Amino acid sequence: MAKMYYDSDATLELLQGKTIAVMGYGSQGHAQALNLKDSGLNVVVGLRADSRRWKQAEAAGLKVATVAEAAAQADVIQILLPDERQASVYENEIKPHLTAGKCLVFSHGFNIHFGQIVPPADVDVFMVAPKSPGHLVRRTYEEGAGVPGLIAIHQDASGRAYDLALAYAKGIGCTRAGVLETTFKEETETDLFGEQAVLCGGVSELIKAGFDTLVEAGYQPESAYFECLHEMKLIVDLIYEGGLSRMRYSISDTAEYGDMMIGKRIITDETRKEMKKVLAEIQDGTFAKNWLLENQINRPTFNAIERKDAEHPIEKVGAELRGMMPFIKKRD
Ligand code: NDP
Ligand code: MG
Ligand code: MG
Repeated sequence: MAKMYYDSDATLELLQGKTIAVMGYGSQGHAQALNLKDSGLNVVVGLRADSRRWKQAEAAGLKVATVAEAAAQADVIQILLPDERQASVYENEIKPHLTAGKCLVFSHGFNIHFGQIVPPADVDVFMVAPKSPGHLVRRTYEEGAGVPGLIAIHQDASGRAYDLALAYAKGIGCTRAGVLETTFKEETETDLFGEQAVLCGGVSELIKAGFDTLVEAGYQPESAYFECLHEMKLIVDLIYEGGLSRMRYSISDTAEYGDMMIGKRIITDETRKEMKKVLAEIQDGTFAKNWLLENQINRPTFNAIERKDAEHPIEKVGAELRGMMPFIKKRD
């Protein structure tokens, strides 16, 4: 088994007395900045001067500065801006202040791996990537728990990059759940593959295809919603707690027989072949190139699909049904 790192393997000392600039206060930015602060570290959040999140971060007790000012003050610079914007912000506002001995940190390897950011040789460059949406990075930390994380070293100028990465991972709570060492290449490619084929792309299409099949056959949309979307979480909770076997233990034998006999008719050999193609397009840079081009022309495809999908009937019936379940909280 790969070596895992936990709380006792890491010490915050290396970061104590240093200034950590967290650039961005979005999903990961707010979570990591607040967790680091609550771990007793000195944090400054870097934002655009006109960001509506400036006041929000200050109200949460954080110091806030422009990206350039924060980069100038900081010893450790964590870039938590959208991947497609990091390169230009880096070039204009961070690079001029990235002097020898500083650390540059990422939570996803995209810009380093695909050569969009090329840091100078005299700084440490590493990754601490929580394997979780940002809001759960914060929520689990507050609950005394944490989410797993990956660390990777791209450049070790100081000879301490490894321990610094572990210290940072401890500061955001990842060593509570377990930290695994990886490379920028492995993290970037597996992260993109996971979100495209399984977690986001795969799951959304599976849910919609199931819902559409039932509704088109004349069943009530409410039934279809409960079966194909709402219960997904309950099933996934069992898988998360005890693997696929725990889920099979809890469901009826009828469901288990259906699972065994029918699952492979849904995820077919053809689907597995397509997954390999998707992975190849990630590995050869096709996906990254398409995504950066889409941004250069102001996202016509992205915006059109986002708008269209928001109008899918599953979203409408879901909003109504969730409205009657006050225990499902819409958080921030
Ligand atoms: P978000 O889209 O949530 O980040 C938005 C933040 O970036 C806002 O504070 C926004 O500022 C700021 N921002 C955007 N453009 C600029 C700019 N030009 N100058 C200054 N600030 C800017 O990002 P995520 O948290 O989703 O992603 C951050 C990184 O974390 C990425 O590398 C991503 O791959 C990685 N990651 C994300 C995960 C997630 O859960 N979302 C999971 C694991 C890794 P403003 O307030 O002005 O709009
Ligand atoms: Mg990702
Ligand atoms: Mg059932």
